[in-house]
Amino acid sequence: MLNLVLFGPPGAGKGTQAILLAKTFNLVHLSTGDLLRHEIAAKTELGRIAGELIDKGELVSDEIVISMIESRLKKPRCTIGFIFDGFPRTVAQAKALDKLLTKHHSKVSVMLCLAVDKGELVNRLLKRGLTSGRCDDLEAATIEHRIDVYNEKTLPIINYYESQGKYFPIPGVGTIEEITENLTSVVKTIYDKPIISHSHK
Ligand code: ADP
Repeated sequence: MLNLVLFGPPGAGKGTQAILLAKTFNLVHLSTGDLLRHEIAAKTELGRIAGELIDKGELVSDEIVISMIESRLKKPRCTIGFIFDGFPRTVAQAKALDKLLTKHHSKVSVMLCLAVDKGELVNRLLKRGLTSGRCDDLEAATIEHRIDVYNEKTLPIINYYESQGKYFPIPGVGTIEEITENLTSVVKTIYDKPIISHSHK
């Protein structure tokens, strides 16, 4: 299987690139942020708990996000693999993902890390906040807090994957196409099977 972890700070462009990579390599896109926003929209109890934390720029508990991923991995589907977007976000989540994939006789193939500096991230998120309807994108203070949480709780994951030889940093600045091209060429170095095209051109 081909399992990609798309990693990077809030506003690095993970969502945009994950959709494109999922199409190129025929992967199932799993975004914990999207899954949580679905729960919020559906007004579930889980959504209520998650929504309060998300609005403050805090992480949702490992337990909640791990069980969401677990149930998605259990669904039978015809795919060559998954692209994880916004997950894992803590070392505990990274370890849990390894365990879950092992159960499915699989593993993380590569961790692609989009690098973008803090000033650019804040600008992008404030801009996104004008149209996204996301409360966590509205205020500079919340955005800065999310970046601090990322630096404190999420960045240590890099060591976890680096020690396994799976860490690939990619600049997250440039055009969307250039970034996709860079990400795709890393994936191709580890996955040399023919690529299934979904182009309707
Ligand atoms: P971004 O990367 O732009 O911040 P996401 O959609 O990935 O956006 O996540 C939005 C929010 O959802 C996060 O700030 C966090 O509160 C919550 N969240 C998403 N994924 C996770 C996760 N794996 N662990 C904990 N919280 C998460």
